[in-house]
Amino acid sequence: MSGTLGTMRARDFDRRLSREFRKRFGRCATRVPGGRTEEQERRHEIAELAESVAEEHCPGERTEPECIARAKRITISFGAYGEAFDGMLEWKQDRFHIFCNLDRLGQSTSPRARFTLAHELGHYYIDEHRRALASGRVAPHLSLCEYECALLAEQEADHFAAHLLMPAARFRAAARTVPVGVEGARRLADRFGTSLTASAIRYVALDLAPCAVIKWDCHGYAWKHLSSSAFRGPFRKTFEAPKDLAEDSPTRRAISRQQPPETGYFQAGTVASAWFPGIERGEWQDAVLVEEALPLGRHGVLTLLYRV
Ligand SMILES: [Zn+2]
Repeated sequence: MSGTLGTMRARDFDRRLSREFRKRFGRCATRVPGGRTEEQERRHEIAELAESVAEEHCPGERTEPECIARAKRITISFGAYGEAFDGMLEWKQDRFHIFCNLDRLGQSTSPRARFTLAHELGHYYIDEHRRALASGRVAPHLSLCEYECALLAEQEADHFAAHLLMPAARFRAAARTVPVGVEGARRLADRFGTSLTASAIRYVALDLAPCAVIKWDCHGYAWKHLSSSAFRGPFRKTFEAPKDLAEDSPTRRAISRQQPPETGYFQAGTVASAWFPGIERGEWQDAVLVEEALPLGRHGVLTLLYRV
């Protein structure tokens, strides 16, 4: 199974879903009561669905995607399937089956494997995804999980997975007991059985403290998430070329594969103008920030910025 085939199948699936999405919401996002756009409303619905599944199957404890799959009579194969995909949901002989690719995910209980199972459960629980697969109109869907794929269907399944594994109320309560930054994200990751990346994104999404998380891969800048209440206006755009960052900054050091200290990550003080082109050096908004950069091996580098 080649990587190209995997991408083609995922695109085909996504095109069909995008058509259904447009049919339901129209080409332009418009506002719905409550101040949300329809796209935000859709994401809100998916989050509520995932959190209700977590509450039904794993109330008050760590979410176990394998238990949920078992309860829904979805079988799972853990195997070595090369590099084409992280997970796959297949509809065959009137049953759903999940393939989980340990070549890319490590152990079957690793945070990335758990996220992948939760992501595939997203394709099962989100009506449009499940119907498209069960109708036989699309080939078995190959997934790249944990925010590695920009396709709509993949983003929706990642969004479902994040809420299934880290329900808002539980995550918020746990986050209050840890410091902001890599140390806190590590403790949350341990508690919820998720990766540090997924935990940091959830922390930012819940707007628990002024915090930004920026991902770099082998091509350079990949994506970012900014806590909404703190990073507005000139704080929305960040420098995206590593060459625009200070040479001795934690991020530049991590990208250039320098050996990190014993903590496993680089840390230093910085200022907003070093990261946000809309902020002039020395102006009143040029706040002091902490910058932490964590090397993620083949998954690149994760930068966390937060106010002191
Ligand atoms: Zn997927």
